[in-house]
Amino acid sequence: MTGLVNLMEETVLEKIDQLWKGTEYCQCEKCRMDIAAFALNRLPPRYVQSLTGKMLHKFDANTIQMDAEITAVVYNGIQIVGSEPHKNDNQF
Ligand SMILES: [Zn+2]
Repeated sequence: MTGLVNLMEETVLEKIDQLWKGTEYCQCEKCRMDIAAFALNRLPPRYVQSLTGKMLHKFDANTIQMDAEITAVVYNGIQIVGSEPHKNDNQF
């Protein structure tokens, strides 16, 4: 048993880092995690076994449709969290 990883998690974190840099919003770690939680609650998980599945990482996160969906959700999260940062730990 090697455990499971959610590929969507790292995909979302990468996407946050890409989109976030160009904004004026608070960029502390808490806001980053709030945005990640927001997005991950709205996107389908992609669980794989941690050792074998990593190679499949690019499998569907890189399709145009999936990428557009992830981008839209992450961007939405950046705006919502950014407009009211540090509001509530359990908001999402
Ligand atoms: Zn913050």
